[in-house]
Amino acid sequence: MADKRDYYEVMGVPKNATDAEIKKAYRKLAKKYHPDLNPGDKAAEAKFKELNEAYEVLSDKDKRARYDQFGHAGVDPNFGGGTGGGSPFTGDIDLGDIFDSFFGGGFGGFGRRTVNPNAPRRGSDTETTVNISFEEAAKGCKKTITFQKIDTCDICGGSGAEKGTSARTCPNCNGTGQVRISQRTPFGVVQTSRSCDRCGGTGRVIDTPCSACGGKGRVRKSKTIEINIPAGIDNEQILNVGGQGNAGSNGGPAGDLHVYVNVRPHPIFERRGNDVWCEVPITFTQAALGAEVVVPTIDGRVSYQVREGTQPGDVFKLKGKGIPRIGGHGRGDQYVRMTIEVPKNLSPRQKSLLQDFDNVAEDKNYQKRKSFFDKIKDMFGE
Ligand SMILES: [Zn+2]
Ligand SMILES: [Zn+2]
Repeated sequence: MADKRDYYEVMGVPKNATDAEIKKAYRKLAKKYHPDLNPGDKAAEAKFKELNEAYEVLSDKDKRARYDQFGHAGVDPNFGGGTGGGSPFTGDIDLGDIFDSFFGGGFGGFGRRTVNPNAPRRGSDTETTVNISFEEAAKGCKKTITFQKIDTCDICGGSGAEKGTSARTCPNCNGTGQVRISQRTPFGVVQTSRSCDRCGGTGRVIDTPCSACGGKGRVRKSKTIEINIPAGIDNEQILNVGGQGNAGSNGGPAGDLHVYVNVRPHPIFERRGNDVWCEVPITFTQAALGAEVVVPTIDGRVSYQVREGTQPGDVFKLKGKGIPRIGGHGRGDQYVRMTIEVPKNLSPRQKSLLQDFDNVAEDKNYQKRKSFFDKIKDMFGE
């Protein structure tokens, strides 16, 4: 530890170098010492390790400040511990990234971080739609849904090999999944490895693919499950059902199923947030005299005393008769708007009674109308 070089010296930058200068110096030196570009060169490997260590500190504001104040002791948890160590390639070192910055990413996959095709991978999510009624959304329900997903092939158990056969080691890469290749680059001939074409990097080849899945080990299936839809769900909300999505690979978990909820419109109720709105028609006699009317709610019928002199469009509230709040407490309210129906097709007797009524009606019975005509008079200066 004692002979550790100064990090600024390692990177060849002055003590007051900017972040951009440090980054630039790092890229330049990483290109020079990267082990993939110097196969078998122990000195280059050591330099690369030293460079990464320096860069990890100098590219981090906090670490750099501690280093400036206390030197190596300020940033090295192993300082004084004797063994030193830590991982040789710390930080996010990827040769592909370095080269992308020089060649705009078009460098033929050279040195790209390769994804291990045998690593467990989570399956992707899948989706379906469920149609429910207004009441089911309000009260919650259980629904049986059928959807398509990619699942492990039952015939081959996911191996992709025909029943009674099995995959064998890929002769092209000897099961490693990687092949070494030489590539001529602006920096000389470079040895690098890339995924084996023959086995796609898995290290295994299947001579007789499973006829059920074509060797993929996975098939599209129709699946039926029952789901719980919580009370209060609204149209266009999405329910997430964990683990019911597409199967993972290499032992990875399945994805999720997203269920898009479609709530059918109701003939009477309209939902606004957690409130329920509806219109109740009453006769104009009921409106004038007041009456007990029946009002539908999602819990059933309730009776409501309409007051005398109710006007078209008057709204009353039934507290707590709305939709339950998902995951929360309580419910919204129900709002009832009165519509007043004017009778049609009156009999001669009804007409005569109404005419009698009107003959004894006074101005004060029709306040809105009176005020309206007053405004007209004002308007024309009469
Ligand atoms: Zn199969
Ligand atoms: Zn292979």
